Amino acid sequence: MFEIIRKTLRTGSQTINYPQEPDEAPPGFRGKPELFQSRCTCCGECVSVCPPSVIWLKEENGEKTLTISYCGCIFCGRCEEVCPHGAIKLTQEYELASKTKDDLLARIGWRS
Ligand code: SF4
Ligand code: SF4
Repeated sequence: MFEIIRKTLRTGSQTINYPQEPDEAPPGFRGKPELFQSRCTCCGECVSVCPPSVIWLKEENGEKTLTISYCGCIFCGRCEEVCPHGAIKLTQEYELASKTKDDLLARIGWRS
């Protein structure tokens, strides 16, 4: 019994205080994809390679919209790999809990 207590005191705490304190994702972690409107040319490459088809490109009334839904994203990184302009990047962000599906949509748009 004393041996166990002594070992525990020597080892110290091995856990972290998440979520009370933020915890950074490790290098190379694939989290929430982010869109950069200024770089996007609306080419549609990311749309065609997304395995669960959670990226859409729509054109309506002279307005183009590129949308990502984080609901079904599997964080594979294919969109980032194929984008010729670096307009989509996976981030370190992993806290994506939400009360509505709409909160999990990211959009960028253009009027032609
Ligand atoms: S990371 Fe993968 S699943 Fe998520 S939007 Fe990009 S291509 Fe689609
Ligand atoms: S994010 Fe990249 S691949 Fe996707 S439509 Fe824009 S420029 Fe094309």
